[in-house]
Amino acid sequence: MQDCKMWIGGAWVDAESERTFTVRNPATGDEIARLPQGGPADADRAVRAARAAFVGWSKTPQAERSRILNQIAALIRAEVDELARIETIEHGMPFESAKKVLTFASHAMEFAAAAARTLRGEVIRAFPNTVTYLEREPVGVCALITPWNVPLFMICAKLSTALAAGNTCVVKPPSISSLIAVRFAELLARSDLPPGVANIVTGPGGSLGDALCSHPMVDLVGMTGSSETGKAIIASSSRTIKRLVLELGGKNPAIVLPDADLDRAAEVLGHHQFFNSGMTCGSPGRYYVHESVHDAFVDRLVARARKVVVGDPSDPATTMGPVVSAEHRASIENHIRSGVDEGARLVLGGERPTAPPLDRGYYVLPTVFTGVTQTMQIAREEIFGPVACVIRFGDGDDVIALANDNVYGLCGSVWTANLAKGLRMGAELRVGSFWVNQHNHLAPEVPWGGIRESGLGKEASIEGLKEFTQMKLVSYELIG
Ligand code: NAD
Repeated sequence: MQDCKMWIGGAWVDAESERTFTVRNPATGDEIARLPQGGPADADRAVRAARAAFVGWSKTPQAERSRILNQIAALIRAEVDELARIETIEHGMPFESAKKVLTFASHAMEFAAAAARTLRGEVIRAFPNTVTYLEREPVGVCALITPWNVPLFMICAKLSTALAAGNTCVVKPPSISSLIAVRFAELLARSDLPPGVANIVTGPGGSLGDALCSHPMVDLVGMTGSSETGKAIIASSSRTIKRLVLELGGKNPAIVLPDADLDRAAEVLGHHQFFNSGMTCGSPGRYYVHESVHDAFVDRLVARARKVVVGDPSDPATTMGPVVSAEHRASIENHIRSGVDEGARLVLGGERPTAPPLDRGYYVLPTVFTGVTQTMQIAREEIFGPVACVIRFGDGDDVIALANDNVYGLCGSVWTANLAKGLRMGAELRVGSFWVNQHNHLAPEVPWGGIRESGLGKEASIEGLKEFTQMKLVSYELIG
């Protein structure tokens, strides 16, 4: 078992309370690391360190900030095998998948480093003999609160844009993914990032996270996680009015029309359903499949699901590992039970593997439900697991109204050979992103973010970078 520390103000420290917690390998249940259980006193220490560092970092020339971000990206690339090994033992993601996701983490750093060099202000011609302009400046100290589903990528997605724009940060990963965060802090420590510019604290959301979100010296909270946590953060941050960028839950519709390429739809949607054991915010949450192609599509989706190789995430043959924790498996299994109880038809999976050694880990087999109806719990709530929920619709149904009848608005897709029809339908979907004949197709250049209970603001792209800036009005009179 490894003993780890937090990274605050350029120093490795324990929690002030000296309390600790442990993280486990989800494939075996074994404890793998012991970490400091930070609380409000540690949040305060880290925020003060970030505030002290802000003066220098915000005035550092953009080219120098970008150089250091590229250096961090290079350190991630150089250590990708070791970082992927940690994601495999801490999170359960298959090693090769973890390596791909970590490559995206370096891409995010490199994109932010380059894009920040293009940020500019604007001149306003409002008065004669007066120069008026909007200057784009960093927001200040950012609390970056991340989820466990793609742990280091999520840290890098937020940290890259926040630092590139000249902010300083306190990162709080979820307790169960803290080991990868402190190993990443070791890379930050080896980079030229000045002390206090990025701090990494570990501990529970309810105390440490809450203390960060309500701290008067924090100017912006960037958080990815569940909508319930997002609502708690809106409440706690409201006492000191902070800028919020929230990337929350989803229950994403995928609409399959009669003229869709069913092979491709099942392949792409099946990939996003079972990648990372379905623990991806953009994965398809509800399949609306036209009755004329329903059975043919389900056959293909089930065939795609049968190709998933469930196993030890360290084994190169494995394409799907365990889910992240015993608690999360219990939540997925409750959803599966509710689907069966409410009358949906389980056509594949729905169980744990029972043979050793998988019986020790937190596994759920790829699962497909048909006969799902709009009011069932599995049609309404985010499951965040390898569970596909297929809803049949006919010519008399308003499928867009059905797709929009949900509190979330993250993303969605329409599958059809008729591009104009796909675009028209997508335009009616109340989501932050939609695709025609694609799903969850993302890159650092592409803005990402939901509407309604799926969140506020955008992440990635120039739009995501701008979230970490604010505009200041400057005006002077030309005298003489
Ligand atoms: P979570 O909401 O349980 O936790 C997210 C983070 O918030 C963790 O670091 C947690 O410790 C912290 N937290 C918890 N309570 C807090 C509080 N009161 N104040 C401050 N911080 C607090 O989410 P999770 O279970 O880690 O992740 C899964 C969720 O994340 C799913 O709902 C998924 O859809 C969502 N997600 C969304 C996106 C997106 O881009 N929209 C991406 C990935 C995951």
